[in-house]
Amino acid sequence: MLTLDRVSKRYPHGQAALQGVSLALEPGSMHFLTGHSGAGKSTLLKLATAIERPSGGRVVIGGDDITSIPRRRIPYLRRAIGTVFQDHKLLFDRTVYDNVALALQVRNFPRSKITGRVQAVLARVGLERHRDKYPITLSGGEQQRVAIARALVNKPDLLLADEPTGNLDKQLGDEIMDLFYEFHQFGMTVLVATHDLSQPQRLGLPQLQLQRGTLFS
Ligand code: ADP
Repeated sequence: MLTLDRVSKRYPHGQAALQGVSLALEPGSMHFLTGHSGAGKSTLLKLATAIERPSGGRVVIGGDDITSIPRRRIPYLRRAIGTVFQDHKLLFDRTVYDNVALALQVRNFPRSKITGRVQAVLARVGLERHRDKYPITLSGGEQQRVAIARALVNKPDLLLADEPTGNLDKQLGDEIMDLFYEFHQFGMTVLVATHDLSQPQRLGLPQLQLQRGTLFS
């Protein structure tokens, strides 16, 4: 699903953010990517969504090598990937429903199918009661669920999350991680970056550990 082959990343004028990183995520697997702040977790996720390109090595997403595909193909490649970030960037002047529906509208998804798809995904994350509310009226955990619904509504094969529980207390954080675990059990490939080392242990899942740009597993 996602393969990194001896990947390195150096930002302009920066030190090496990743060095010789290799990994292969099997379809349907779930992994935690752990490491201290600055270890390279966000950089790895940005490479996996082709937001950044590697300085060396190969990144292969769903069979496509992002280092050699033309830029115009990248939006298509991203359709298979759902992303959830700590800073969820919801639209606060739109309802929960509209925030999620927008992800389909921008892809010219048939209007007749949007309602059903959005309702289903809101039910999946436990937000159906809140569909007509504005995000500002929801708790932090509920807002994060809206962001997760938005990432899922395109039915991605791969879900990438960067510190998705960073702003939440322990109980809400556990609930969000449990939700990701559920998606993995339904066959989605999931990679969650977190500095919370209790999560891989709690869920009994493998940990990919980054230390100053080098991966240990
Ligand atoms: P983490 O997500 O584990 O906190 P990052 O991937 O954000 O780590 O950062 C890894 C290293 O790359 C850090 O030294 C950081 O300062 C550097 N870095 C990240 N983004 C940029 C950028 N856009 N330009 C220059 N350096 C960056």
